[in-house]
Amino acid sequence: MKLNELTIKEAGEKLQSKEITSVELTRDCLARIKAVDDKIRACLTVCEEEAIAAAEEADRRIARGESGAFLGIPYLAKDNIMTRGVKTTAASKILADYTAPFDATVIEKLKKAGAVLLGKTNLDEFAHGASTENSAFGPTHNPWDLDRVPGGSSGGSAAAVAADMCLFALGTDTGGSIRHPAAFCGVAGLKPSYGRVSRFGLIAMTSSTDVPGPLAKTAEDAELVLKVIAGRDKKDPTTVDPKKAPARSVLSLSGLKIGLPKEYFIDGLEKDVKDIIEGAKKRFAELGARLVEVELPHTKYAVPVYYIITPSEISSNLARFDGIRYGLSVSEATGLREIYAQSRGRGFGPEAKRRIMLGTYALSAGYFDAYYLKAQKVRAKIREELDRVLDTVDCLLTPATPHAAFKIGAQSDDPLKMYLEDIFMAGPSLAGLPALVIPAGLADNLPVGLQLVGRRFDEKTILDIGRIYEEAEGRTIKKELDL
Ligand code: GLN
Repeated sequence: MKLNELTIKEAGEKLQSKEITSVELTRDCLARIKAVDDKIRACLTVCEEEAIAAAEEADRRIARGESGAFLGIPYLAKDNIMTRGVKTTAASKILADYTAPFDATVIEKLKKAGAVLLGKTNLDEFAHGASTENSAFGPTHNPWDLDRVPGGSSGGSAAAVAADMCLFALGTDTGGSIRHPAAFCGVAGLKPSYGRVSRFGLIAMTSSTDVPGPLAKTAEDAELVLKVIAGRDKKDPTTVDPKKAPARSVLSLSGLKIGLPKEYFIDGLEKDVKDIIEGAKKRFAELGARLVEVELPHTKYAVPVYYIITPSEISSNLARFDGIRYGLSVSEATGLREIYAQSRGRGFGPEAKRRIMLGTYALSAGYFDAYYLKAQKVRAKIREELDRVLDTVDCLLTPATPHAAFKIGAQSDDPLKMYLEDIFMAGPSLAGLPALVIPAGLADNLPVGLQLVGRRFDEKTILDIGRIYEEAEGRTIKKELDL
């Protein structure tokens, strides 16, 4: 077994017992990236020298007797997360040459813990999308089938973990961007509760739902990452004091009540996916959980509400990319208006432009009440309803996506179809709830995920349930990827 195939937990034990060094582990990851990434294209930047230097430093710390779950563990970060001295592009032409002058809080925390940054991963431009095809630098390919998308928008991170280029990767989730690619690539993806992990240093998409989180090989590893990156941060006033969060451990599924929202088991669900989720439900019941049907009638509004609120916030957040302050500036343009128009016109791709226009429209004086305000009111209902139902069960179990990974190009001309990819993801995002996607099985040799949605700030329960399920199922659905 190559060292890059290890989980964080396994590698951590081997590092601490000095059976392996971080330099060896890091070299195996870098070698794997070199061997397979010209086919997968998960990485936008690989910082080999810096990674080796960080690994050497971790080895010195271990030699001095320091310990820690992340000391010497190599990882990749989505390229909309600021990394000091390493390019951060958001997969956009407008930031193609941008190097961040500071680290995002999540990066800073991992650095302190001794983790080794290997590089940055591809995404849909500014995280707008569910296939990674909206990247200005070309799509990422799904390691399970190179003709297919890895999901998105954190498709590079999910593909990199699935192909063992790293031990884990960071993503961001605004309306599914960690969970959706986790499902398509057969890895574990955790969207923490809104406010659990600092957003400081993320390139903002939708500030009211953005949250960084892990893509990992197991739910157990995702929990380890959450522990390091979570917590109140003075630089992000929406973060909460972690002491207020429940932290009991679930040791077995017996006696647990899992809600099955009937609105999530829709007609559009592909037969294979339906069968796999039915199988998973049975498995949960065999393991002792009590499955009960619950109702979330406002679910049908989640995608339409998300696609009013998200573009509205995007149009405001992207206003800062004006050709003057950051990134691309079309200098041959004359006059301020021309600089704005040409820099934004050349710098943003079609999906970013579409969202800027939709959002500007929804926020404009004549339409604000009819669209944005109305959407916020319905959002409050969605949130209340989810909180109310979650008071009666320990978590919800839903499909993650209506189908497995689709072919590159198959949906890219149809934005509405792409927006429907978020059908099971948007509700928990609008409500700020934690949600975990783990592999549930294979359909035609492509991974299918299931989603567990937890109570606000109760990541612990869904992670425990995920771990117990993975252990019962032999942990992962991984096969030797044919690359
Ligand atoms: N697919 C969703 C969108 O395009 C989710 C994106 C995300 O979570 N960043 O908005």
